[in-house]
Amino acid sequence: MENKNTWELLDEKQLKEVEVLSKEYMNFLDNGKTERECVDTIVNMIEEEGYRELEALVKEGTKLKQGDKVYAVWMNKAVAMFQIGSKSFAEGMNILGAHIDSPRLDVKQNPLFEEGGFAYLDTHYYGGVKKYQWVTIPLALHGVMIKKDGTCVEINIGEEEDDPVFFISDLLIHLAGEQLDKKAAKVIEGEALDLIVGNKPLVIKKDDDKKKKKESGKEAVKKGILAILKEMYDVEEEDFISAELEVVPAGKAREAGLDRSMILAYGQDDRVCAFTSVKAMLETKKTDRTACCILVDKEEIGSVGATGMQSRFFENTLAEVMNLAGEYSELNVRRCLAASCMLSSDVSAGFDPSYAASFEKKNAAFLGNGMVFNKFTGARGKSGSNDANAEYMAHIRAIFEEDNINFQTAELGKVDVGGGGTIAYILALYGMNVIDSGVAVLNMHAPWEATSKADVYETKRGYKAFLKKASL
Ligand code: MN
Ligand code: MN
Repeated sequence: MENKNTWELLDEKQLKEVEVLSKEYMNFLDNGKTERECVDTIVNMIEEEGYRELEALVKEGTKLKQGDKVYAVWMNKAVAMFQIGSKSFAEGMNILGAHIDSPRLDVKQNPLFEEGGFAYLDTHYYGGVKKYQWVTIPLALHGVMIKKDGTCVEINIGEEEDDPVFFISDLLIHLAGEQLDKKAAKVIEGEALDLIVGNKPLVIKKDDDKKKKKESGKEAVKKGILAILKEMYDVEEEDFISAELEVVPAGKAREAGLDRSMILAYGQDDRVCAFTSVKAMLETKKTDRTACCILVDKEEIGSVGATGMQSRFFENTLAEVMNLAGEYSELNVRRCLAASCMLSSDVSAGFDPSYAASFEKKNAAFLGNGMVFNKFTGARGKSGSNDANAEYMAHIRAIFEEDNINFQTAELGKVDVGGGGTIAYILALYGMNVIDSGVAVLNMHAPWEATSKADVYETKRGYKAFLKKASL
């Protein structure tokens, strides 16, 4: 079987649309470098298109009817959207699901210290990272600090051109003989990922000195940083205890290649699927089955926590929505979930010619060859995988062929080389049809990941076809 290249299939009009969508996608990535920022960006996008917040509708007791659009946010880090279809909920929904958390370095709860004239923030990495990739690159600090009175202070430093950035040092090559003999996993260890945030001591005038002498005293660099934080954000060192600060690569998404065919940016796993899913929802006007999109947190650490896919947040939200539509019963919720079709949308490992030995070419995803389906994921003999039903795969194939969507099928590298998981298995617990699908990414989980503009475009088209036509 041969795959087609999407660039060869797109007509002039579509090629223009690719560029428009790519620009919007890059903006989305720039505005959403944390799950909280993603939720904010998405809520802005969908409210403009008529989505209303569930909480308010529940309070007012508003009845929902066909065509109504409603969303719910959980703890500012997960969001579920519904566009009510003409069929009853019990006949099932068409669900797009993706995650909006990405690998990064989280700032610890007692992070600030001074050593050798530098002030540092200590970090604990989040998700699967090659630690050596995070040293000596410009880094930005995003997140929130919640004060004791509940005030939320938003932090976003390192993205504007005149903003300062932060960095993690690495040993100079001249002294690195011993370091370079280490295994790559040990070259930079987790506890060495300390973010340099300052080098200038806080200088205080000596009270009793007529010669106008100044002194800096103990831990003056750290004190200097605290003084700046106090002045800029009115926060104290103790406020780090209730902060969620994420260290991410600084800078905007970029077009890549002389032909500008690709996008190089942080956090494309899995914001590329989140963005295309939201776009598909907004561009799908009327459906028979209710169209649904869930964008969750914590996938990179096992889909745990109140905002991860394993949380009851989604099920509870669905129950509320069905209640407002006058269709709620415990049995109806179960029937709805069991009868639903889902695309568990996540990035796929793009074939990398430089590391060809890790892939099996017939069953690898190629950048530019369209939306990717992974019948299964997992590791060591599909362990931990959802493994979609063949009947469902056939149904999806038929829909995609009918709508001329270019797609490819793949698995995550060679058998026995490695593996990974997604949120697919969690939704499958309800008995619904779920398949992994999404966009191929090169250097997944690196500070800068690459995707093909054509794949982003084709994936959005694929999601639209699915929302409109899936029904099994
Ligand atoms: Mn992912
Ligand atoms: Mn991932």
